[in-house]
Amino acid sequence: MNCICGCGQRLAAKQSDLNLLAGEVAIELVVWDKARALRSPVAAAEIGAILSEGAPRYQLLLATIHAGDDLGRLEREAIGEWLADSRSARKRLGGELPVVPKKKISLSKEDQARIDRVHPERTFSGHSWEAPAEAPAEVETEMPPAGAGAPDPELDALIAAADGDDYERLAVAWLGRLIATSSPSLDELRWLLGRLEDLRSGRRDEAEPALRRFLAERG
Ligand SMILES: [Zn+2]
Repeated sequence: MNCICGCGQRLAAKQSDLNLLAGEVAIELVVWDKARALRSPVAAAEIGAILSEGAPRYQLLLATIHAGDDLGRLEREAIGEWLADSRSARKRLGGELPVVPKKKISLSKEDQARIDRVHPERTFSGHSWEAPAEAPAEVETEMPPAGAGAPDPELDALIAAADGDDYERLAVAWLGRLIATSSPSLDELRWLLGRLEDLRSGRRDEAEPALRRFLAERG
């Protein structure tokens, strides 16, 4: 896995969960910046606050990834809190702001190609619409959209079974196949277990796109 910012740095296995976390933060920032770029008066101050609190968290993630470090517990909590706030703000404001999805974020190909990976919070507001070709071509494919990738009937079946009695058995079997085919690191496994637990606990809107992005990245 390469660093999310497009710098080309290969990541140690233990850092892939930070990279995935950075992806979750980035995609929230992109959506809020798209809303900001509309210059609508609706919730303008709140959107500005979400962006100005999220952007330094993303920079912290990039700096930590680049340094080969891990986050401290408080840093990790602060990022988790921001993500939760951002998601609940989307649920609340999605009805009023058409570019803000209430649930799953699914970016168009054009939007993906525009993503500023170093400063996702400036993706729409910081560049002119006339110059979308500024981003280097090779980084365009590194952040698949939520729900992207080849159809995955096994994951679909798992998601469909999330609130049933069969879920545990299916989840263990699914994880077993993943381990056999793509040798995830322990940190990736820990992250995967968290997402599987999210599915069981009814947090599908967060877990499903994250799992699909992960699988798409593993290719
Ligand atoms: Zn980087």
